[in-house]
Amino acid sequence: MLRFVALWLLVRVFGRLPVRVLYAAAVLLDQPVEGFVWPDWLRYDDDVDSDFKGVQIVPSGFFGSQYGTADSIPSPPLASVDGVPLLFGTSEIRRAGNSLVVGADLLASTYFMLTRYEEWVRGGVRDAHGRFPGKESLPYRAGFIDRPIVDEYEELLRTWAGQAGVSVTAPNRRFSVLLTHDVDQIRTRHRYYNLARAVKKALLGRESWRQVARKALLAFKLFPDPADNMDDVIGLDRTMMASGNATRCQSVYFFMADDRAVSDGNYDIHGPRARRIIHDVLQSGATVGLHASYHAGQFPEDITDERIRLEEAVGVRIYKNRHHFLAWRDPEDGHALAASGITWDSTLGYADVAGFRLGVCRPIPLFDPHRRCMLGIEEHPLIVMDCTLSSDGYMNLDEDSAFAHVCKLADVAFQHGGEFVVLWHNHVLGKTDGSYHARLYPRILDYLGSLLQSDLGRVARRTKQYTPHPIKGPTTHASLTIHSS
Ligand SMILES: [Zn+2]
Repeated sequence: MLRFVALWLLVRVFGRLPVRVLYAAAVLLDQPVEGFVWPDWLRYDDDVDSDFKGVQIVPSGFFGSQYGTADSIPSPPLASVDGVPLLFGTSEIRRAGNSLVVGADLLASTYFMLTRYEEWVRGGVRDAHGRFPGKESLPYRAGFIDRPIVDEYEELLRTWAGQAGVSVTAPNRRFSVLLTHDVDQIRTRHRYYNLARAVKKALLGRESWRQVARKALLAFKLFPDPADNMDDVIGLDRTMMASGNATRCQSVYFFMADDRAVSDGNYDIHGPRARRIIHDVLQSGATVGLHASYHAGQFPEDITDERIRLEEAVGVRIYKNRHHFLAWRDPEDGHALAASGITWDSTLGYADVAGFRLGVCRPIPLFDPHRRCMLGIEEHPLIVMDCTLSSDGYMNLDEDSAFAHVCKLADVAFQHGGEFVVLWHNHVLGKTDGSYHARLYPRILDYLGSLLQSDLGRVARRTKQYTPHPIKGPTTHASLTIHSS
């Protein structure tokens, strides 16, 4: 209720500006939504005021009659402004008195990204698990899934304000790392099924007979169980947290409290083994969250029972969540999540492609675009998941390519003073898993540790900038048109 009141007050204070615009502006500028004060150097209006000192964004019409329709979704190739992909508006920039008037509708573009706009407008586009495929997304199709364009917009806006004679302070952020683990298994499940599936794939030429032999050894318990490795995983993260600044590297383990679906967890959260592991996780300085089941992805009202079950087992308040299979389907499902007591989530990354699903690499408050209200959930967008890199149906990268790709994404987050959120399942880190992740994950930790140790984070953020364009006269930038008046 308070969230509705807060937004109603915002509308009253800012008159014609719709709630959607206020939300986009607050998050774009990295300001709290509740209590947001519209900056006196920014306008969002069709009527240009030449006496205004600052940046005037001309609305593109996105929030008009076509809002919510498939026709409102841009198609590649996109225009760009100062090298940043632009979803709505034009790349025209001109002087008007004390103002810089820009056609780039950064607020509509931001809103599109933050609310997963195309995912609910294209509600019929879903994969076998009910998820919107990352490879269907505009950021992937237009080639900017590896760029947090909303964070780039924030820097762009600040640069423009400076060119209009207004000094705007950069948000006070510093690069951090969030290591996360979805604990789907604490012992390998479906061992005989896995063996049968490996044989079938080998017969089709899609699996090596070496892998079949390994799965046979696992099935008959002649090999150490790769999922029986929580002590190793906890040790890796604990070393990483100890070597860096603890406030800039944190670790979260998501446990399942429901095993109804075949694809859900294979352990009893109240069992002695799970409780011992949870105790060790908490002792290491990490935190515990709910791994909402596959079933709860379809029926979000069931999350309450799962959260309570986990809370009873853990003995501490549970308010963090990530959905199993990353299967949080629609924005409005967030209401059930919030009603269950979850206020922190890290589900929103794509399973099939790594990158910046929401266009940001920092925590943001989530918004319900249908009811036009805040959800009361702080989202920590997931940037990269283990199987996204390695699965043949996803990115299908070899170990060195996967390492290079993660480093590239981490560098981007570093430049923006962002939060780099990674997910590695414990069972793929087992030495007998057969994948490259047991080697890759420590390499990535080393790299992230070197970034955390670097004192260059803030410097890099200040100096990383787009080439400033001249205010007067024509520009050589192909996508930019500047008029003086
Ligand atoms: Zn899972």
